[in-house]
Amino acid sequence: MKTWLIPFVAFSALTIRYLILSIIPYEILWNWKRIAFQRFRIQTGFPSAHQLWSEFKWSFITFVIFSVGALVMYPLILEGRTKVYFEISQYGWWYAVLSFFILILAHDTYFYWAHRFMHVPIVFKHVHRIHHLSINPSPLAAFSFHPLETLIEGGFFYIVAFSIPINFGILIAFLFFSHFFNTIGHLGYEFYPSWFAKNRLLGFYNSSTHHNMHHHYFNCNYGFYFNFWDKLLKTNHPQYIETFDEVVKRRINNKLGQTVAKSPFNEMSGA
Ligand SMILES: [Zn+2]
Ligand SMILES: [Zn+2]
Repeated sequence: MKTWLIPFVAFSALTIRYLILSIIPYEILWNWKRIAFQRFRIQTGFPSAHQLWSEFKWSFITFVIFSVGALVMYPLILEGRTKVYFEISQYGWWYAVLSFFILILAHDTYFYWAHRFMHVPIVFKHVHRIHHLSINPSPLAAFSFHPLETLIEGGFFYIVAFSIPINFGILIAFLFFSHFFNTIGHLGYEFYPSWFAKNRLLGFYNSSTHHNMHHHYFNCNYGFYFNFWDKLLKTNHPQYIETFDEVVKRRINNKLGQTVAKSPFNEMSGA
């Protein structure tokens, strides 16, 4: 591939991924089937059109920066100057699968600590505030970052590419998996079963309610895929389980036609 084509190919791929994993879920849940799925809402209100436009706009600014990042990274990969490799047989299938799980755990740890850093007040103001304009987030907010936050978020992939052998196909699969989880966090709807958050094993996975609470309360629930770190460092919201239970109870009661309980969140007007 000609070098000058790299950012255009990367931008197209990022746009297609955003279309499939953010825009389509948004259109189905937030517009097309809004009434049918209302009882699954975490915060019952809806954000303003201005907020949704802001999430969309900042996500595309992020894609422009990621595309420039690809222009820097891809030639280094092709020249063999990173640890990214193309032939699965080089390390075997078992390693390729293992590396996928290593990526998840490493990314979760990187994200938790980078996220804590971005909540230091002075850093928050200049780096992370854009993402927190969404107090009641939508899937469009998945990449709604200030350019400085984009550099921090993207930094993980540079560190990984130079430190552990990762098959190129596994890396692409991981990028889709990570975006899928990102969409769940910003979905605005809770679909997991009532026992999920309390389950001894699955309770470590973050529900949509978990990250939604982060957007609403700011200083809790920093984890991405899991809440290991949040549990260890006591940054999980103390009412996470109760809130999850109330969100799910509201969904079940609505199905049974009982009186609709109000949202467990103290919803802000217009949020
Ligand atoms: Zn978020
Ligand atoms: Zn945050």
